[in-house]
This record gives sequence, C-alpha cells and structure tokens, in this order.
Amino acid sequence: MRIDRLTLEHFRNYNRQDVAFDTDCNVIFGENAQGKTNLLEAIQYLSCGHSSRAKSDRELIGFQAENALIQGQIFARDREFVLRTELYREKRRKLWVNKVPAKTSSELSQVFQTVFFCPEDLLLIREGAAARRKFLDQALCQLRPRYAAALAAYRRVYAHKTRILRDCEEQPGLLDMLPEFNERLIQSGAVIIHYRAQFTEKLAVCAAANHADCSGGKEKLSVNYKTVSTVLNPLEGLPLLTDQLRAHMESHKQAELGSRLCLSGPHKDDLLVEIDGRDAKTYSSQGQTRTAALSLKLAEREIYKNVTGEAPILLLDDVLSELDPRRQEFVLNRISGGQVFITCCEDDRLPVLLGGKVFHIAAGKVLESF
Ligand code: ATP
Ligand code: MG
Repeated sequence: MRIDRLTLEHFRNYNRQDVAFDTDCNVIFGENAQGKTNLLEAIQYLSCGHSSRAKSDRELIGFQAENALIQGQIFARDREFVLRTELYREKRRKLWVNKVPAKTSSELSQVFQTVFFCPEDLLLIREGAAARRKFLDQALCQLRPRYAAALAAYRRVYAHKTRILRDCEEQPGLLDMLPEFNERLIQSGAVIIHYRAQFTEKLAVCAAANHADCSGGKEKLSVNYKTVSTVLNPLEGLPLLTDQLRAHMESHKQAELGSRLCLSGPHKDDLLVEIDGRDAKTYSSQGQTRTAALSLKLAEREIYKNVTGEAPILLLDDVLSELDPRRQEFVLNRISGGQVFITCCEDDRLPVLLGGKVFHIAAGKVLESF
C-alpha cells in the first residue's frame, strides 16, 4: 500500500500543493512551524477521516478559506484509488472513493491505512486510560469496520442514556426507555470488548518484541487489556461476553439511578502497560516511555500487515530527535518494509541514512524534492 500523490487546497497553512511521493521513504525537513506535521496530518486524515490533533474539521481549514480539499492517489490491493475529502466551515464534510460519495470514513479506511507516531503519543503511556482507549479505537476503527460501527452505536446510545439519567427526576417517564438502551449498550459493548481483547493479545506479543529489541534485551514490556470486572476472560466468545456485560450492567443499576450517571462499561476500559512488572504510567523514565510508545505503534503496523497483507503507511513525526543513537538505529531498521514518511528539523543526516525522496518545507510550500 502506498500514497503516490497528494493534492491540498487551503489545508492548514498550505494554499495549493501537489506533491508526488517516493514509494518507500519520504523525508520531510524544514524549520519549525513550516508545515511538516500538517503534511502528515493531511495523509492521516485521508486514511480515517480523522486527525489525531484536531478537535474539529474546522481547525484544518486555512485561516482565510471557507473550505479545504485533501485528495490522494493511493495504490492498494493491486489497484489505484483516488480518495478525496472536502471540509467546510458551515456544513458537513464530504468524502469520495473513486468519485463515488462515501457515507462514512470507514470506506476510506478500507482502502488506505496509516499509523501516525508523533511526540504527543508519549501521552499514550503517561496519561489516563482515555489516551489508551483512543489508541485502541483509532487502530481498530481502521482495521475492522464492524468495530467502527459498534463504537459509533455505543457512543450514540451512551449519550442518550446519559441524558435519560440526567433528566429522569423531572421526567420520570424517561426511565421506561432505560432497559432498551441498556440492552443496546450491552450488544455494542460486547462487540467492542471482543475486538479490543483480540487486538491487545496480538499487540502484546509484537510490542514486547519491539521493546526488547530496542532496549537491547534489557527490558520486558507487557500489555494487558482491562475491562469490566464481570468479564473474566475477554477472549471468550461473544455470547458469553454479552451475558457477563449484562450481569455487570444489572449490578450497577441501582448505583446508576442513585448517582444519575453511566457508571461503568467498556467506556472505562484501559490497557495496563508495564515495564519489568511495574506500571509504566507511574514508574517509567522518559526514554522508556518513548520506547514503549513507539513499540506499541510499530506493533500496530505489524498487526495491520498480518491481517490485511499490506503494511499501512507509517507517519513518523519528529521521532528521532529525542532518541539516543542506539534507539534511532533501531527505529530506522524497523521502518523498512512499507512506505514511510518521516519529519525532521535537520537536513543533513536523515537523507543519508534513509535514501528515498527528500522534501524541504517552508511556509506551507513543498519547495524542492530531490
Ligand atoms: P515543528 O517543527 O515546530 O513541529 P511544523 O513544520 O511541523 O513545525 P506545523 O505543525 O505543520 O509545523 O504547522 C505549520 C503552521 O501551520 C503553524 O505556524 C500553524 O500556525 C499553521 N496553521 C495551523 N493551522 C492552520 C490553519 N487552519 N490555517 C492556516 N495555518 C495554520
Ligand atoms: Mg511538527
């Protein structure tokens, strides 16, 4: 899988840009605030209709513009695809796959997948459970359309249930709907748990191998999926998971009515990441945190490759600058075997290390490529 060409119009600080990429390695360099991350962000958006750093599509539209365009020529499954997204300030975005309108972003993900690693991904280890759920959700939404649908359904019903619990004192009749909403949460929630558990099992193996390599075999990384307490083994089949989640919901019923909040469920799931048996969130050093986060992201790419037969595009934003030479070498050795985009502020060392095409970005323009 690869992206051969990218066209941008009024995307962030790019006015109009058309750029042809190398099939393997693309090095993007330039000073701060020129548009390096923006370029990777555009590629990520094309793969999943989502940017990991923007809260809304509006942020992506050039300050002076009303709408933005991202279009990419993709080669996947032995054929060419054109993916196109148009973003508007005042109305919903539009997506196309080969000129056919796409209803949801999973239609983009079925063609084109990316794994994005940026400095903020260190929060994956350091922050609360929400950061790790986001990682799982983003990976699985691209990989499994059924997961994306279950997650969207869960979120919709969760929002409804939250409103019911909030307003039920003033409108007690709302409570009549609660059993049906609970059942819908159980059905979509069980699918979510099922996919998260399967994914984490593979992730744990790949990430541990990456981390061991990167640390010269000195450190042991372990990753475990934590979900609701009634689910004893999340790798069990869906019917059992559904029953266990129903039991969980039952046991929280009174407490939920008392607190008027949705208390527990897969929306509280977490990944327990440990290095040498200790919680990485609490005890890991800066270097260990970075290595663990990177090991997880590279594992995500390997899993995709195993599942789909094609490696997703790897987008590495500013990863090398803070790694020591040994860890840099590890990363550079690991990234081959698929198309890679890597940004950096220096212009001399990376091109020699990686080969491929080199792009210089200045003030929202791709100035040269050689
Ligand atoms: P660094 O090396 O510091 O990470 P960068 O090259 O990755 O820099 P980007 O994050 O790509 O920089 O941002 C480049 C510029 O784009 C910033 O100056 C930012 O203010 C600008 N920018 C962000 N959003 C928009 C927008 N919607 N419209 C116009 N410009 C924007
Ligand atoms: Mg940047």
